[in-house]
Amino acid sequence: MPGIYFGRDGKRRMIHGRTIFWFKRDLRTDDNTGLLNAVRDSGEVLPLYVLEESILGKYTDGGKRLGFFIDALLNLEAELRALGSYLLVLRGKAEEIIPALVNSHKIEAVYTNRAYGFSGVKRDLGVEHQCRLLGVAFRKYDDTFLVPPHEIDQRKVFTPFYNIWQGRKKNAPLDAPPRISSPHLQASPVETMTRDLARAENRYWPAGFPVTRLRDFNFSDYGMTRDFPYLDGTSRLSPYLRFGLVSVRRVYEAAVSASPEPGPYIPELAWREFWYHIMHYFPETRGLEFQEKRRNIKWINSENWYDAWREGRTGYPIVDAGMRQLKEEGWMHNRLRMITASFLTKDLITDWRWGDRHFSEHLVDYDETVDIGNWQWSASCGADPQPFRIFNPTLQSQNYDPECLYIKKYIPELQAVEPEKIHNPLTYKLPYHRPIVNHYEMRNLAHEAYSGGRIDDGYISQIKKDTGLP
Ligand SMILES: Cc1cc2nc3c(=O)[nH]c(=O)nc-3n(C[C@H](O)[C@H](O)[C@H](O)COP(=O)(O)OP(=O)(O)OC[C@H]3O[C@@H](n4cnc5c(N)ncnc54)[C@H](O)[C@@H]3O)c2cc1C
Repeated sequence: MPGIYFGRDGKRRMIHGRTIFWFKRDLRTDDNTGLLNAVRDSGEVLPLYVLEESILGKYTDGGKRLGFFIDALLNLEAELRALGSYLLVLRGKAEEIIPALVNSHKIEAVYTNRAYGFSGVKRDLGVEHQCRLLGVAFRKYDDTFLVPPHEIDQRKVFTPFYNIWQGRKKNAPLDAPPRISSPHLQASPVETMTRDLARAENRYWPAGFPVTRLRDFNFSDYGMTRDFPYLDGTSRLSPYLRFGLVSVRRVYEAAVSASPEPGPYIPELAWREFWYHIMHYFPETRGLEFQEKRRNIKWINSENWYDAWREGRTGYPIVDAGMRQLKEEGWMHNRLRMITASFLTKDLITDWRWGDRHFSEHLVDYDETVDIGNWQWSASCGADPQPFRIFNPTLQSQNYDPECLYIKKYIPELQAVEPEKIHNPLTYKLPYHRPIVNHYEMRNLAHEAYSGGRIDDGYISQIKKDTGLP
């Protein structure tokens, strides 16, 4: 039976006989705030993951994200077994499964880490409501961020947000509990529960990667390496942060000890939190441009151009290499995300929502809030407005991949071509797709489209005719 106890620290503490710990975007036992609290407060903890069909529906990427996600569950299962427990994976709706377990297994409390994404918040509220009806405690903890989005007063621009964020105390990471006592239960292995799911082999994102990466990654050189996609110059931790295989506190600790604040890496962690901050205060921007003046851009939205962009055959090698990396690895280097996003929204004058949709289908690290924030930023319609900027693919290619090492990796048909020619597809005829648009013409058109000007339909038809696309 639950009761009130006094811990050694003298603080009042509720002790539960048996608790569910509900894993969500925190697939780890190390430094997991909610799990540690559940273990501390309970006689027994039942570790649960609810595999909802609505979550699975998002894995339409040919199985790459699903492959990674199932490996993450297997990894969590192994961690829990090493602590004397198991992982109970059930398929269905959390709002139905959790109350049923509460009833059938004499559960006294449900512990979890707080969700922040749209569907996650709704799901938390639904389960909390059910728990209340059943008279069991529902406890949720802030675990996902160094500074929870609602703890900073509304800011619309990154720098003022970051100045406050930097000044806030960050919790130190905590080790996994030494042991977890769990009720005796026949839990089917993750392998059995996920056997029918069409996953692809997880070739690029091994679940154990953060352990070695945090030890070996050169955080001190990050400022010099981060922009060059042919180098292994960024941490590649985004899928692990997204699914919580590593805690942000561990990453912060490793980065700070390598290169004290405000090293160039730390602001990147704050950007992740900034987009959640924006979505917390301006939830309408999930589907609407943050900047009201940019809510009526006259997008061209050509399906053919969109297909060429998605399939990496725009004829601009730097753009196509990025899109092919995405297709192959389920991930794209940040510089390329910016280049390809600028190309879609400014050179092809295509709605940023179309770009978000494609990324949602392919990125292993896809995070709706972060993706929307970045797409709007790239499309010059989001928070933290920058001067209206259109990336020139030739300059981007020359500056960030001068020897075309990155490009040639993903576009082997250009292997024998000199870099000078690859950088300038409008000037040289490459043994490859012709550019679908002329960057310089489209740049002028984008200025018109963005300033609310009416784009002459005849002009658009002419461009489409010139480029052979209907
Ligand atoms: C159009 C576009 C869409 C994007 N969509 C996503 C997405 O769906 N999910 C996602 O995690 N990131 C997204 N990003 C941000 C960024 O590109 C990736 O986080 C980064 O490339 C991941 O690689 P990394 O782990 O090596 O990053 P590092 O450079 O090593 O950075 C460390 C961590 O900081 C965070 N971070 C870095 N840059 C950003 C940023 N601009 N915004 C928010 N967080 C950042 C990530 O968690 C990242 O893992 C997007 C960027 C653009 C331009």
